[in-house]
Amino acid sequence: MSFTNLKLIDPLLRALDELGYDEPTPVQRQSIPPVLAGRDLMAAAQTGTGKTAGFALPLLQRLTMEGAVGPLGVRCLVLAPTRELAEQVYESFRRYGAHVPLRFGLAYGGVPIEPQIGKLKKGLDVLVATPGRLRDLQRQGALSLGQLQTLVLDEADRMLDLGFAADLDAVFAALPAQRQTLLFSATFPEAIRKLAAELLRDPVSVQA
Ligand code: AMP
Repeated sequence: MSFTNLKLIDPLLRALDELGYDEPTPVQRQSIPPVLAGRDLMAAAQTGTGKTAGFALPLLQRLTMEGAVGPLGVRCLVLAPTRELAEQVYESFRRYGAHVPLRFGLAYGGVPIEPQIGKLKKGLDVLVATPGRLRDLQRQGALSLGQLQTLVLDEADRMLDLGFAADLDAVFAALPAQRQTLLFSATFPEAIRKLAAELLRDPVSVQA
């Protein structure tokens, strides 16, 4: 099994080649086809399994194939529990998306919000954010989520453990009902199963 078998487009294959990735990991083999097909996903995957490329590659492909839309409106939103994870996911999108014409943004708390607002105003295809800062951007009217196509919750269990449930609910309320949702979590306690039942439609299950 190679990345070519997964029907990834040339600019993505080129980036993977440059990174020296020879073949997809199990979570990538399971995630890439359904995400490319627009399905929802519920994935049990720890960090280190290659889960980031498992969602970033097919989402980059879908966004690229659709082409650019207007300057405003985030099309793909990834929520992550901590600044460190948000940075890693953002860097992954940039690396895997090195040869596609998409715009990526990163937003987390503890730093001035104005530069993040400035970047959002110019238009972004993919925004990676922590829930608290995303909520702040929303409150300031800096965020337009009406064009959102895909929501990714990365390390969903940690987001709930860190007390982000209320911020997440406020964000979910602003999203179009018709969208793709991907949920990644290391553990599946009751609160996560409830969240999944609320957010996912006929999800494909992935076990890394
Ligand atoms: P993640 O679980 O997404 O945090 O990825 C863990 C590490 O594996 C990261 O450093 C990636 O760069 C690397 N990685 C992801 N997919 C592959 C692959 N198919 N081949 C080699 N390395 C990979």
